[in-house]
Amino acid sequence: MFANDARPKARFSMWLHFHGRMLTADRLSKWGLAVDPICSLCTAYLETRDHLFMECHFIKLVCNKVLKWAQRKPATTATWDQYLRWVIMNGKGKTQAAGLFRMMLAECVHVVWLERNQRVFEDKSRTSDSIAREIVYMKILIKTTLSQKASNVLDDEY
Ligand SMILES: [Zn+2]
Repeated sequence: MFANDARPKARFSMWLHFHGRMLTADRLSKWGLAVDPICSLCTAYLETRDHLFMECHFIKLVCNKVLKWAQRKPATTATWDQYLRWVIMNGKGKTQAAGLFRMMLAECVHVVWLERNQRVFEDKSRTSDSIAREIVYMKILIKTTLSQKASNVLDDEY
């Protein structure tokens, strides 16, 4: 699942996400740090791993826009296990669609986490549209770069 064409930073963010290592407010609170426990993206619920990627209205807006662009159905998961099954169902295998899904997921996790950090540490925020456009743009950019690399390899071979 972590072998995909997303940027290395995005793959690392996805690894942290699936291993429960992101420094969400609930984890920081358990370590005794005084942090705002409320999700900075929706400002309505406690910030936990499960909230961010299964419940947060703001992240759903972003992800559903990206999924629509990729002609994929949005996730309808209520538990972490269901979420993992949805990820595996869409991202497992060597098909182009599975590869695109893995790249898209990694970029979504990464860009949304950057947005969360900007809101927490810099008091800056963007709209869900702006974030979704960045993710789609990143995918197009990566895909174009990969196509160029592939064509360069072909040029070198012939
Ligand atoms: Zn939220």
